Amino acid sequence: MPFTIAIDGPAASGKGTIARALAARFGFAHLDTGLLYRAVGAKGGDPAQAAQTLSGADLARTDLRSNEAGQAASRVAAIPEVRAALVAFQRAFAAQEPGAVLDGRDIGTVICPDAALKIYVIASDETRALRRAAEIGADPAATLAALRERDARDAGRDAAPLRPADDAIIIDTTDLSIPEAIERAAALVEARIRPSSAPKYSAPPA
Ligand code: C5P
Repeated sequence: MPFTIAIDGPAASGKGTIARALAARFGFAHLDTGLLYRAVGAKGGDPAQAAQTLSGADLARTDLRSNEAGQAASRVAAIPEVRAALVAFQRAFAAQEPGAVLDGRDIGTVICPDAALKIYVIASDETRALRRAAEIGADPAATLAALRERDARDAGRDAAPLRPADDAIIIDTTDLSIPEAIERAAALVEARIRPSSAPKYSAPPA
């Protein structure tokens, strides 16, 4: 049975950083599913058709990380036909041995509802905006506005809205360093892979 880790959360919460680190540490494959929607948005034309014909070259574009590409991604991501066209690829990716880490918005709720571990990563709006602005060299205030607009659209849409799965574990990275956030997530993986290594509560003697 492949070990699937679903990592969801709002934009720039730290989920991509955590997902990449877990994949490297445990020898799992990693898929940044946001890149699929960014590539569909950037392709132009009919979004459903763009999703059905998505290629490796589309994903290799170098202009997919900008605020504009994020907005375009979130607009096409609300279209049910676009989401439907990307499901099979994501599920096949998740099914590879020995395991896979997928990060996005609906991995724990729709794509991999049976994932071995679901993590939902959050951080304050201001922290997320500062991180993303530094990453892409954009203005922090404009980035904050763009993130809020995108989160509202992602959480408010009918098709696979952004929300934690009922069995997701929340990690708030607002006051965590990157190594701290990674260690917290890695401890959750360890506990699922080797349940006996998890700290246990022992009842005091009667
Ligand atoms: O994660 P990232 O910021 O690259 O995602 C870009 C956009 O793609 C999100 O704002 C969201 O609208 C969409 N998305 C999604 N479902 C996913 C991953 C991303 O709807 N699994």
